[in-house]
Amino acid sequence: MKPFSYLSAPDTATALRTIADSEDVKFLAGGTNLVDLMREGIEHPATVIDITRLPLTGIEELPDGTIRVGALVTNSRLAADPLIRTRYPVLAKAILLGASAQLRNMATVGGNLLQRTRCMYFYDEASACNKRAPGSGCDAIGGFSRGSAVLGASEHCIATHPSDMAVALVMLDAVVEVESVHGIRHVPIAEFHRVPGDTPHIETALAADELITAIELPPVPAAAHSSYRKVRDRASYAFALVSVAAALAVEDGRITEVRLALGGVATKPWRAHIAEELLLGAEATDENFARAAAAELAPALPQSDNTFKIDLAQRTVVAVLRKLNAERSAS
Ligand SMILES: Cc1cc2nc3c(=O)[nH]c(=O)nc-3n(C[C@H](O)[C@H](O)[C@H](O)COP(=O)(O)OP(=O)(O)OC[C@H]3O[C@@H](n4cnc5c(N)ncnc54)[C@H](O)[C@@H]3O)c2cc1C
Ligand code: SF4
Repeated sequence: MKPFSYLSAPDTATALRTIADSEDVKFLAGGTNLVDLMREGIEHPATVIDITRLPLTGIEELPDGTIRVGALVTNSRLAADPLIRTRYPVLAKAILLGASAQLRNMATVGGNLLQRTRCMYFYDEASACNKRAPGSGCDAIGGFSRGSAVLGASEHCIATHPSDMAVALVMLDAVVEVESVHGIRHVPIAEFHRVPGDTPHIETALAADELITAIELPPVPAAAHSSYRKVRDRASYAFALVSVAAALAVEDGRITEVRLALGGVATKPWRAHIAEELLLGAEATDENFARAAAAELAPALPQSDNTFKIDLAQRTVVAVLRKLNAERSAS
């Protein structure tokens, strides 16, 4: 690992000032991704600012019903919080299906949003990778592509976004609060992660001098009846091949609200707007679920090893919506 300076920030103002005044600085939260990347030589910041002492650990309800979650709330604590479990079960479930208990105890909300891809070529310095070394090429294209994206990819990068939590947040229209010495701004999560285009190394809307301070979860009554399903190669410690976050409200057999997001298939947590539009107002039937899922995946562009994701994603969407509908009918 390349030598680096370490600073433990006593307060948010110091953290923001330090990152504004220096080049090549990284914040350290749970360290479960950053430290691995530094050990592998993929990230080599000159300075690491430990932010774990900052007062960003609250989970509070605001007067309008929004739930504000501090950026340093651990994944374990967020998934166990009674407000989250009751109002946003999809979020609790998505978190619990990620990583391991030990990792979730360390991993934070801010760090989870900024975790980097698991594309194997990104981790291998002998491989061409536009995300790691802009302009070098992409060895995943035409290479081993079983885990790669089928939606949102470009000729420059086909890596999937690995977060489970972020898929649920996209479904919930969460807002990311970020702060710098210039002030605070709020970024809708749908605009936070970027598709690669011709700049795959620019992954989010976060500026180099900004700190994620919180996420805000708006009131979404339909989310009380929501779920997350993750399909992966083994039951633990594996990233999603396909995942689906969904919420469904049905009255008199017709869908009055539906929210759908996909993980494991796209270069960013993917809101399934095409499917949602087709389902709203339609009868809650397997045929309509399947038609909507097929329309969402119609633009998919597979590589040689991952055509199976298209069918798998469609079937997972149908299975999740069918289950939510059956649970609703039975309640
Ligand atoms: C073996 C293994 C299995 C895993 N499996 C899964 C899985 O199945 N699903 C899943 O979703 N994830 C999985 N993960 C990833 C894990 O969820 C992330 O590593 C974790 O969420 C990162 O959070 P952290 O606090 O440790 O971030 P760090 O490692 O501390 O930071 C990650 C990045 O975020 C930046 N950062 C952190 N906090 C802030 C902030 N507040 N503002 C600005 N920048 C910040 C850091 O500078 C760094 O660039 C797995 C990880 C491992 C090691
Ligand atoms: S898919 Fe993206 S991360 Fe993977 S090698 Fe290509 S450019 Fe790098």
